[in-house]
Amino acid sequence: MDNKNIKFFENMLQKRLEEITSNIHLTNTNLMELTATNLKDQSDIVSANLQGELESLMAQKHGLELKDIIHSLQKIKNKTYGICEMCDDEIDIQRLKIKPHAKYCIKCRELHEKSKNRNRK
Ligand SMILES: [Zn+2]
Repeated sequence: MDNKNIKFFENMLQKRLEEITSNIHLTNTNLMELTATNLKDQSDIVSANLQGELESLMAQKHGLELKDIIHSLQKIKNKTYGICEMCDDEIDIQRLKIKPHAKYCIKCRELHEKSKNRNRK
């Protein structure tokens, strides 16, 4: 993937990350009030949430997506972004535009879903 596309997806992931963290703030008014008394500005609150609250957020609605997004941003840093974690093929760009934190290519995703369904039965 070229640098221009990497930048594009990095921006997309950053935006999504901000969206999710602000959603979490809205649904955790009590937590928000607690942290707001100790922290001066929004960026402090965001980083405090990411570091200190990440584990408890995992159980919540956006927790898993948040984790995947952070994982994807990490992969951008490691220059492994856009590569399927199962078969090492490149993930289709059109697919990443819909789901920028995708870990697998379409083929592996299907295999993954199938094996999950099989385990459930
Ligand atoms: Zn794959």
